[in-house]
Amino acid sequence: MPQTLWYPYAQMRGLDVQDDVVSAHGTRLRLSDGRELIDAIASWWCVIHGYAHPVLDAAVAAQTANFAHVMLGGLTHAPARELADALVAVAPPGLSHVFFADSGSVGMEVAMKMAVQFWRNHGEAGRHTFLALRHAYHGDTTGVMSLGDPLDGMHHRFGDYLPKQIFVRPPEGAGGHQGAIRYPLDAAVAELRAALVSHHGHLAAFVCEPRLQAAGGFNLYPAAYLRAARELCDEFGVLMICDEVATGFGRTGTLFACESAGITPDIMVLAKGLSAGYLGLSATLATDKVYAAFLGEGDSQAFLHGPTFMGNALACAVAKASLALFQQEKTLDKIAAIERVLCEELTTVRGSAVVETRVLGACGVVEVRDRAQLAGLQAFAKDRRVWLRPFDRVAYTMPAYIMAEPDLRLICGVLRDWFAR
Ligand SMILES: *Cc1c(COP(=O)(O)O)cnc(C)c1O
Repeated sequence: MPQTLWYPYAQMRGLDVQDDVVSAHGTRLRLSDGRELIDAIASWWCVIHGYAHPVLDAAVAAQTANFAHVMLGGLTHAPARELADALVAVAPPGLSHVFFADSGSVGMEVAMKMAVQFWRNHGEAGRHTFLALRHAYHGDTTGVMSLGDPLDGMHHRFGDYLPKQIFVRPPEGAGGHQGAIRYPLDAAVAELRAALVSHHGHLAAFVCEPRLQAAGGFNLYPAAYLRAARELCDEFGVLMICDEVATGFGRTGTLFACESAGITPDIMVLAKGLSAGYLGLSATLATDKVYAAFLGEGDSQAFLHGPTFMGNALACAVAKASLALFQQEKTLDKIAAIERVLCEELTTVRGSAVVETRVLGACGVVEVRDRAQLAGLQAFAKDRRVWLRPFDRVAYTMPAYIMAEPDLRLICGVLRDWFAR
């Protein structure tokens, strides 16, 4: 049989994926051979309330009984309107308009296009370059690939094909608990200022993942950098885009990572946790200032964008229910408890391979010197009934927020035992 199914980030030659999930409940994946694994990474961090949550299942079922999807072009529906209202109510103050799409990458493409057209509508068509951060990851589509780390990110092979952006180094370290300062705040802010001095005239926006740069290597940096970036963007008249696809919905301890710095970006992007892992959905939020640039007569000022599945009703219904769970289940308290356990447990992860451990919110990271030192960890964890997927030079856990404390300690124990061998 030819291999019909092509897997992500995988060399297909010789690949034989055996772990066949037949059901999933809470934090457990059940495989076809009867084994049950504790999921330490919540399906790329999006299944924030756990699998098959009864409230979320019911929200999807109830909406299915009405309709699954209708186009948002020329029609409207309550699930999309109500989710937009609910997001604006909890977002950093000033973000009051919501544009839906269907994945984090596309949500970020929307943000880029919005920033570029913002300047065009203001008569500044030359402003289409972006200032982004080293270690960044903003998705896999062409526009946002150009914002990923140009040297050691996953997209450097495409360098010659991508639009050229400008990069600065963010602070490295001191953004969470544990871990050393490798590039200090002052130096990073000075570098950012220098880049803005040189380039502000042709920049559309500064783009960052606030506090936690996830798929680009799990660098944590302090809230003070975000505050400085906000002030510098204002000083130089550059828009600020925060990509909260990974950090949004509690991952760093507050509902949004921007909150920890008390800032409002001009544009903020949400996906992953937005629909709690049920369906593809993203939200690109904009301030009145951004939105107002698109108001006018006819199409020439309008934002001409509209994915087929924009505002999908099932996705919006489950996202609204997921947001309500934060209150009903005191989710932020659960995240604080996870953070305490991770801090305690990961300090005990030691071994010659370990460069450092880092914790912020419901994210715990072990960085090693050489990626070869993580070869075999996935199978080792699976033998202990834990699902982990190390990434480059990082082993990490980003669990569902309902993860029980003994299970979380078990996950950390697997890491401790692996590095102590
Ligand atoms: C995952 C991720 C994306 C891309 O989201 P997709 O839904 O996979 O397209 C963009 N930005 C960040 C910060 C992410 O973590």
